Amino acid sequence: MRKGPFIFLLLQIVYFNLYGQSPNMEARTFYPFEIEHAQCLSHNQRTDIKTYLRQNITDLKKAGKIPIQNRSIVPLEWPLRLAEGFTDIDYHGISAFVDHNSSFPSAIEDYNCGARSFDSSSGFNHSGTDIFLWPFGWSMMEEGRVDVVSAADGIVIGKLDGNYDGNCTGQDTTSWNAIYIRHDDGSVAWYGHLKTNSLTTAPIGGVIQQGEYLGKVGSSGASNGPHLHFEVYEEEDLINLVDPFEGDCNSLNTTSSWADQRPYYDSGINRISTHSALPAVPSCPLPEIKNEENNFCEGDDIFFMVFVRDLLLDQTIYHQLIKPDGSVFNTWETTLQSAEHLSASYTFEYAVIPNDPAIGPWEYRVDFLGVTAFHTFNVCMPVDIDEPEVPSKVKVFPNPTSDFLTIEFPQFNTNNIQLQIHNVDGKNIFEQKIESTQAELQLDLSHFSDGIYMVSILENNQRISTNRILKF
Ligand SMILES: [Zn+2]
Repeated sequence: MRKGPFIFLLLQIVYFNLYGQSPNMEARTFYPFEIEHAQCLSHNQRTDIKTYLRQNITDLKKAGKIPIQNRSIVPLEWPLRLAEGFTDIDYHGISAFVDHNSSFPSAIEDYNCGARSFDSSSGFNHSGTDIFLWPFGWSMMEEGRVDVVSAADGIVIGKLDGNYDGNCTGQDTTSWNAIYIRHDDGSVAWYGHLKTNSLTTAPIGGVIQQGEYLGKVGSSGASNGPHLHFEVYEEEDLINLVDPFEGDCNSLNTTSSWADQRPYYDSGINRISTHSALPAVPSCPLPEIKNEENNFCEGDDIFFMVFVRDLLLDQTIYHQLIKPDGSVFNTWETTLQSAEHLSASYTFEYAVIPNDPAIGPWEYRVDFLGVTAFHTFNVCMPVDIDEPEVPSKVKVFPNPTSDFLTIEFPQFNTNNIQLQIHNVDGKNIFEQKIESTQAELQLDLSHFSDGIYMVSILENNQRISTNRILKF
């Protein structure tokens, strides 16, 4: 999905502050998250899928499991939704529509006569809609934050699961994980790149309702990052491709398949948040280190971040900081001037909490296109007021680190203190006893392989802290 490995590496460093250090990046400007394109399916894979689905449809018809085709067109609902328990403002961006220009390479036209699609020199024209997770796609995928849901009522006519889902290069030749639904009007939808072992238990031939869970967004198959490839056919013969978006340059169909078609530029806020440092992006497919924080006090760094989709030239985001008493502390604006359109981008402001700040819950408020988003953070408020007096938190720094890691301890009450380090698979790879008089410890991690580790402190075999660190 993203544009070339070199560009992405550069963007990680330049735009996403790979090492999470203090900002040498300019605040109040917009940084794009560049989306590379992956072919999604090779020609042979597409041919094989069609053969497989046609056979399944024939078998299901013989078994009486495919209802008679209903001639009225079934409108499609959006094929993604936030998983239960999550409250993000939004979670997606669009990296590619269907390419309606059958020439190639670099002959691209989307349904709206723009160029938000791609093709390749091998004769590939993108034939679906790519919807990616934004921001923190790998982290969202790990958390299972976004469900793929059925766009319409229908029957499961094919499923494929168990393939690796952490692909990053777009060149991967392994199969994707996918589910295929035949709707009551005879149209068929493909949902590809799903997360491994996330597919619904509904069997082939099983009935699916509109909005029913199908799986989780992943990055299986020829993919550069977590996204859904959504492809639609007019009939169960899988010959006539449909672009569900209605527009002047849609060469396939004249009407929208959507019950409620989203605008071509669907500009909006996806997330606003406060951070102790800028997010860091480890090597793919490790989840991003968000460095989100909601509690700050004197001397702390604070980063105010807004993540948006489909930002257009001259669009402005209005920012406000509201004090605990409701008065406005500060306002600023950010306007996109460096590009015509960014599918996904973020901007930040940086500050240090001053001496003697207004104590209490503050609000970071963002207005964009008439929609207001709020985020509350606490300044110098006691955390866990009802808890008995506990030692101050363990501090682990620098994070990320390439070699030495310093761990600062609170005052311990016993002699039975242990440091443990686990890798991402949960395997205990390092253990050391800590003396109760010890105030800090320095570890040399240079021989650790790059990746994420959990550093835990145990007091009387009770875990009192766990810090996630990135070794690079
Ligand atoms: Zn695709």
